[in-house]
Amino acid sequence: MKLQVAAFASLLVALAATAGAVTFDASNTASGTPGGQRFTRDVGLAYSKQVLSDASTFIWNTFNQRAASDRKPVNAVTLVVEDIGGVAFTSANGIHLSAQYVGGYSGNVKTEVTGVLYHEAVHVWQWDGQGNANGGLIEGIADYVRLKAGFAPGHWVKPGQGDRWDQGYDVTARFLDYCDSLKPGFVAQLNAKMKGGYSDDFFAQILGKNVQQLWKDYKAKFGG
Ligand SMILES: [Zn+2]
Repeated sequence: MKLQVAAFASLLVALAATAGAVTFDASNTASGTPGGQRFTRDVGLAYSKQVLSDASTFIWNTFNQRAASDRKPVNAVTLVVEDIGGVAFTSANGIHLSAQYVGGYSGNVKTEVTGVLYHEAVHVWQWDGQGNANGGLIEGIADYVRLKAGFAPGHWVKPGQGDRWDQGYDVTARFLDYCDSLKPGFVAQLNAKMKGGYSDDFFAQILGKNVQQLWKDYKAKFGG
């Protein structure tokens, strides 16, 4: 019986870590380091796999990709916690999280890692204009999804702050949130256009105003 219960439990875990036909996996190669140990204690592999699954579903909804055929053809999303510097990076469908960052973070590290995983999972799923997209926009879309998921950290810029629309990260995420408020689904449409290539003119094609004018309007609205 014990074996059956264990087998059933592992089946449930396998099901829980699956959204559609995509599998989610996580490993910690830094479990001997202070940061890797904090990851195990305060975040954990099972929780991380669930976040990758939840984040992927959230991203598909945000991008309005109801069918798997609308999405990037990715079968598996993997997380590796590693003894590296920085915060995290994503290469193809592999997310690499810095154990050193986890170890040095002051505050609720579980919430922070959740937000980082949402951001990195966007890089797995977003279109990049065949490699030609504006890098600031790529990072802005990743943080836009993190914002809409409710994991924006308190230190982010406020709406209207920043110097350029394509400054990236939180600055561009706030601007995209404004653009999406003008026409709900804007970010989904923008991402869809970025499947085949990239042009700043996509903003004008969707919203009827060029991106520089939109940035001026945005700054004026928030007095930035
Ligand atoms: Zn990023």
